[in-house]
Amino acid sequence: MKYISTRGNDKAYSASAAIIRGLADDGGLFVPDSIPALDHTLEEYAEMDYAMTAYEIMKLYLTDFTEEELKACIERAYDDKFDVPEKVKLAEADGAYFLELYHGPTIAFKDMALSILPHLLTVAAAKNNVKNEIVILTATSGDTGKAALAGFADVPGTKIIVFYPKDGVSPIQKKQMVTQKGSNTYVVGVDGNFDDCQTGVKKLFSDPELAAWADSCGMQFSSANSINIGRLVPQIVYYVYAYSRLVRNGAVKAGDPVNFTVPTGNFGNILAGYYASLMGIPVNRLICASNENKVLFDFFADGVYDRNRDFILTSSPSMDILISSNLERLIYDICGSDGIKCAALMRALSEGGKYEIDDEMKRGLSKFTGGYCTEEETGQTIKRIFESDGYLIDTHTAVAAGVYSKYAERTKDKTPSVIVSTASPYKFTKSVLSALDASLISDDDFGMADSLSELSSVPVPDAVSSIRDAKVLHSLVCEAPEMESVVKDLLAGK
Ligand SMILES: *Cc1c(COP(=O)(O)O)cnc(C)c1O
Repeated sequence: MKYISTRGNDKAYSASAAIIRGLADDGGLFVPDSIPALDHTLEEYAEMDYAMTAYEIMKLYLTDFTEEELKACIERAYDDKFDVPEKVKLAEADGAYFLELYHGPTIAFKDMALSILPHLLTVAAAKNNVKNEIVILTATSGDTGKAALAGFADVPGTKIIVFYPKDGVSPIQKKQMVTQKGSNTYVVGVDGNFDDCQTGVKKLFSDPELAAWADSCGMQFSSANSINIGRLVPQIVYYVYAYSRLVRNGAVKAGDPVNFTVPTGNFGNILAGYYASLMGIPVNRLICASNENKVLFDFFADGVYDRNRDFILTSSPSMDILISSNLERLIYDICGSDGIKCAALMRALSEGGKYEIDDEMKRGLSKFTGGYCTEEETGQTIKRIFESDGYLIDTHTAVAAGVYSKYAERTKDKTPSVIVSTASPYKFTKSVLSALDASLISDDDFGMADSLSELSSVPVPDAVSSIRDAKVLHSLVCEAPEMESVVKDLLAGK
């Protein structure tokens, strides 16, 4: 299998080369030249555990990795860093199944991909005779940063620099990042929002002079953002796994369709669900859930993507995004893999902040339904599900659960539904607690974690208790235009 650019103006690369490059030279995203079909029956996947499922799916995409290499990456990634032996759990509440993807080291779903990416990347580097040290540059809206830092810390041959919006992440997310250990890790707060960080990092990647400078220092840049194909492929696995657990539990018969509702920001998670459906997982609806930054809801409603609007800080900060980078891969698919057409739309987006798709492309969106929740609805959903079912969810998952329950009520669709649960409630303790009992809010995040635990009887996860007294190791802050000079200084050891 080869990987080609969504903008049609770059060569075709092997999977390993695409993982190293991150982004195509023409600014596009790498996509597989065709989507492979599942090569087992749905009943067969129901017999596999998470690691076996991961191998069987990833081997179809990462075709230049040997069986031994891929299995070694999977074994190193999905080990006892996860706090449940099955890695991913499926819980039943509120008439749906919650796919808990937050049992990894940083208690958010990004661990599913970021615990394996460093291993894929180091194998890929060896395969491609890369002698340079690999420097990961990452923009984060909160969860990617810590998950990437945890994945790359002290991995030989790599360094990682994470940029986060200095006032745009939760206190616990910030504490997780600024206490990160590892001599190859750097964390920088940016005076701006997530889009400023992401745009800044994209600029760094497309700057040939900076690349030449890095090369002269024996380094090269790569990305851990969800635009990297090495992030996307591992995410397809849990859609297959979720479906196969439902088959195994007898909740669906093999072949019966299910719905997935996905709390969406950069569109990486739900895109993996779309790829899983193209591979043969029976999917009825892919429900794209947004918070008040509802660019995607509007896009699915009228085919116009328009980022020209106010950026709203919500209680689900990992979804506070106005430019959903991975949507480009869907756009490429629905315009018939026409790189020129896709590039023109992306140019309109970067120049005017807006594009509109034609009717033929709109037909390609038929599996998707958009929905959004206001801040009030999000809080009410947390409270409602906790009070009715004793099941505690975080704000991001609550956006999805709220969108799903509105959808089910409106459409009377009875298809078994999976809600993709992307973070532990302990990652967003203050917002969760304020939804349940505002009198317990304080300035002490760890005290609030204790209160939440008392109230809910859900134990505080290790990932939170272990940073309680950890030392702050990273305190650098910069303006967005200074990102380049910060990278140079850090890498030059200044
Ligand atoms: C990143 C993130 C999301 C959004 O996922 P995308 O792949 O960017 O759409 C949702 N919830 C949480 C908790 C996240 O960390």
